[in-house]
Amino acid sequence: MNRFEFLRPASIREAVVAAAEPGSAYLGAGTNLLDLMKIGIARPDRLIDVTRLPELSNIEWQDDGGVRIGAMVRNSDLAYDERFARTFPAVAEALLSGASAQLRNAATVGGNLLQRTRCAYFQDLASACNRREPGSGCDAKGGENKSHAILGWSDHCIATNPSDFCVPLSALDAVVEVEGPDGTREIAFSDLHMLPGDTPQVEHALAQGELITALRLPADGAAFAANSRYIKLRERTSYAFAVVSGAAMLEMKDGVIARARLSLGSVAAKPWRVAEAEAALEGEEPTPQAFAKAADILLAGARPSGDNAYKIELARRIAVRALTLASRGTPQVMPALPASPFSTNSGESHVA
Ligand code: SF4
Repeated sequence: MNRFEFLRPASIREAVVAAAEPGSAYLGAGTNLLDLMKIGIARPDRLIDVTRLPELSNIEWQDDGGVRIGAMVRNSDLAYDERFARTFPAVAEALLSGASAQLRNAATVGGNLLQRTRCAYFQDLASACNRREPGSGCDAKGGENKSHAILGWSDHCIATNPSDFCVPLSALDAVVEVEGPDGTREIAFSDLHMLPGDTPQVEHALAQGELITALRLPADGAAFAANSRYIKLRERTSYAFAVVSGAAMLEMKDGVIARARLSLGSVAAKPWRVAEAEAALEGEEPTPQAFAKAADILLAGARPSGDNAYKIELARRIAVRALTLASRGTPQVMPALPASPFSTNSGESHVA
């Protein structure tokens, strides 16, 4: 690990001024950043600890029923907030399917949005990686790539975004509030993460020194509360990143889908959502045929980036499964295995 300066600012403005210096990085819980520093992938000259800024730790309900979540709210605190879990159940389920109880207790909302890819070659300094070192190549292509992207990838990078949390957030049209050297601004969630294109090293829309201060979920998303699920397929039952995940949300009226939201995770460098797939569900009854058609539209652009053609069919089935479970209704209590496609809703509460 390289030597670095450690600062603990007293205000958001102080933090932003300090972070304007190139080589600076914000420190939240550090559940991803510190791991990367230990193996030499991240080498900040200056760490700015933003965990002690109280204005970043609130969950605030707005008059219209939307919610504003401070960037330092812990994943567990958000998932177990009763009103939040009741209003945005797919988000709570996604949060509880991620990592371990210890990590969820520490990890923050802001950090979760910006976690780095788990591509093994990105994390190995001896491997070529355009994301870590532009122009060096991509050892994942032609390497071990069965979990890599099937959508939105380029010849320069085939990595996926590993976040569970981001998948239902994309479906709910979340808004990211940012403060930076030039003041405050908002970023639509769909614009936060970048597809690799020719510049895989540009992972998100934030400029140097910009700090995520909050995340907003519009009140509109509450209309899906009765029929929302997040489903995550992984190689072991818990404490594993998704191979493919999916968030499905339906607003039902008289047995017909009035509005639908559908997003896939771990298939691209950002959550994957296609407006035409959602539009195809609207006005339909919740049938296997309607779900299969929407899944086909969602996966229309999919192509293998290596030994991962199987993920295309898997993603199709996860989309259909998430829609099917959502159409049956949001469970009254969190399933014992949140997000597991194999979980029965036993009535047991999940124990963190
Ligand atoms: Fe790096 Fe992307 Fe290639 Fe992985 S897939 S080695 S992150 S360039």
